[in-house]
Amino acid sequence: MSGSPDPAVRAGYMTEERRMIRDTARRFTEEEVLPVANELDPVEGSIPDHVIRKMADLGFFGITIPEEHGGLGLGSFEYCLVAEQLSRGWMSVASLIARANTGVLSDGLRGDTEKLKALLPRVAAGEYLTAYALSEPATGSDLSSISCRADRQDNGDWLINGNKYWCTFADGADAIVVFARTASPPSADKRHLGISAFLVDKPRGELPDNCRGATIPKIGYHGWKTFELSFENCRVPADKLLGVEGKAFYLMARFLDVARAHTAARSIGLAQGALDDSVDYVRERQQFGRPISEFQAIRFKIASMATKIEAARQLLHHVCTEIDSGRRCDSEASMVKYFASEIAEEVTSEAIQIHGGAGYTRHFAVERYWRDARLTKIFEGTSEIQQRIISDNILGRSDVDRQIIADAFEQQFG
Ligand SMILES: Cc1cc2nc3c(=O)[nH]c(=O)nc-3n(C[C@H](O)[C@H](O)[C@H](O)COP(=O)(O)OP(=O)(O)OC[C@H]3O[C@@H](n4cnc5c(N)ncnc54)[C@H](O)[C@@H]3O)c2cc1C
Repeated sequence: MSGSPDPAVRAGYMTEERRMIRDTARRFTEEEVLPVANELDPVEGSIPDHVIRKMADLGFFGITIPEEHGGLGLGSFEYCLVAEQLSRGWMSVASLIARANTGVLSDGLRGDTEKLKALLPRVAAGEYLTAYALSEPATGSDLSSISCRADRQDNGDWLINGNKYWCTFADGADAIVVFARTASPPSADKRHLGISAFLVDKPRGELPDNCRGATIPKIGYHGWKTFELSFENCRVPADKLLGVEGKAFYLMARFLDVARAHTAARSIGLAQGALDDSVDYVRERQQFGRPISEFQAIRFKIASMATKIEAARQLLHHVCTEIDSGRRCDSEASMVKYFASEIAEEVTSEAIQIHGGAGYTRHFAVERYWRDARLTKIFEGTSEIQQRIISDNILGRSDVDRQIIADAFEQQFG
């Protein structure tokens, strides 16, 4: 026994290098992220440029990008370590690094070495950040039913027409990855086929030409704006098609495990932030002539919060190890996304309870942690969708929708 107080170190997951990465992200969060989050979130302000530049200097946009393309060449483990720490400060900042670390770009461009060589170093340097437009007004969990269309023109260009919903960072990004239907599905159980992905370049701070947008009023996730978009004959050059025409569903599915692990990391960061603030508060706050930390009811809440967080973190470390080893772990990735986001809501809600009336004000960060934690159960696949994947893996596929997902995984691992 090493006697180390850090369970991850005992489990052998936390190498010296990983601890260094985690501690760097933690210091950055405390010095640069938390102060701006506390100031800007209450007024729905966006992540300032100077924070984005410092994140780029630290290499956070290139964690999973290969070294030969200007990245750090690390895995999803390190990516999630950093995401957890950033989320402890402000979840939107932890989400920003996903705009560069998803693998969708590099996989989508892998047939074009020259383009990869030109683009990836800019991505790693935070100079080329993307937004993702998959969801639509009538399409959320069932992404195979999107209706936004892209039609090929005589010169090979594409024209995009249709509506998208929930496109976060559509304004601040350098390009929007738009998923659109380019062919009718061959049959009802193959409706995930015929969808293609396009890199729609645009100036930072603006929307693409022939694309109108309006912001959606959210209750949290205030570090950036989320848009509904309407594309009307938005022209995309032929060479901006990502991956194989009609098979963008596979492109997306290939990175679902990493996306779910990343959301789990964000959830754990929020829960940890709420726990840390609660520990400080209960030591400080006095009632009945003593710190409230002396009441067993409060102590047990702290114990329960810490236990849930550690359980989620250990599962996340396991999932990341599986992903980085190239082993199939879709069920475990769903489990950790589901579990971590559920406990994040419980823990952040309990933190509000521990703060009493103060927790129900904008004076303390716990309300922000709770508002952001609520979202982790909804995006990147709702809790119910994760439960479906997990239960289908145990009980067998329930219906045709599951067949679509299974087909995607067979393409990846089969
Ligand atoms: C703040 C925010 C930011 C977002 N950012 C982006 C973004 O940048 N890009 C993007 O493309 N999307 C984004 N999204 C969209 C997000 O991914 C979707 O909200 C999510 O996938 C759920 O889809 P939906 O909201 O349409 O809910 P629905 O799919 O309509 O689900 C409604 C309810 O039905 C349940 N349900 C649906 N299907 C099933 C089923 N088969 N079995 C059991 N239960 C089911 C769901 O779990 C949920 O409880 C964002 C969303 C939010 C809220």
